[in-house]
Amino acid sequence: MDRDEARRKLEFYRDLGIRELHVRSLPAPPETVTEFEGAEAPAPAVKAVSAETPVPAVLSMTPDDDSLPRILDDMGNCTRCKLHRGRTNLVFGVGNPQAKLVFVGEGPGADEDAQGIPFVGRAGQLLTQMIEGTAAKEGIQVQRPDVYICNVVKCRPPENRAPEPDEMQTCGQFLFRQLMTIQPRAICALGSTAAKALLGTKDGVMKLRGRWHKWRDVPLMVTYHPSYLLRAYNVQAKREAWEDLKKVLHYVYD
Ligand code: SF4
Repeated sequence: MDRDEARRKLEFYRDLGIRELHVRSLPAPPETVTEFEGAEAPAPAVKAVSAETPVPAVLSMTPDDDSLPRILDDMGNCTRCKLHRGRTNLVFGVGNPQAKLVFVGEGPGADEDAQGIPFVGRAGQLLTQMIEGTAAKEGIQVQRPDVYICNVVKCRPPENRAPEPDEMQTCGQFLFRQLMTIQPRAICALGSTAAKALLGTKDGVMKLRGRWHKWRDVPLMVTYHPSYLLRAYNVQAKREAWEDLKKVLHYVYD
């Protein structure tokens, strides 16, 4: 990397609110996207999903003493990407800052934008039911406030469109910092945008769901976004999502 490129990268991180860099290698080496079979597997047998997996161009540089309040403070009245133009509220995340399980969705919808809280609309209610209903059925003591819930982008995309790659890349830095700070036992990626942002894969949910992958060292399960499950014809997908969630809950809380 030449000096100009290094300077541009440093300015980019400064703009993201990162005041200190702890750089082991820059650019950081691509993450290996991994998978292992079965929730019970103690030491995941690792296998690369795809050698051509597109890895997000910028990987997060997290300060040692990072915290959720600091990340929020660094974001401030964020205008780092064009999504800020249409937002009412920035939707940072909600739940237990020491959660063992983090759910990552795509981005805020209208209800979330109005309230500044992720997953509060119909899809959010379904997510709550999925978490609490599955946990109760499986004899696991978990309520929604026990987990942490956030999105890849923190501002509502216009007309509820999917976030664009530049928006995911810019805002994804904050998501990465959230995950590094919380250090959950597992992550559940809801839908293909979250899977793309965290695994750098082009594969869709149908191909990825139902088995374990990894974000950094954290086991990650991909499943359907609750808004997809709200469509009446998705009976099979609902069944599959419940199966995915069962695996995740048992892995994290058994
Ligand atoms: S989506 Fe993220 S990066 Fe873009 S303006 Fe909102 S908070 Fe900032």
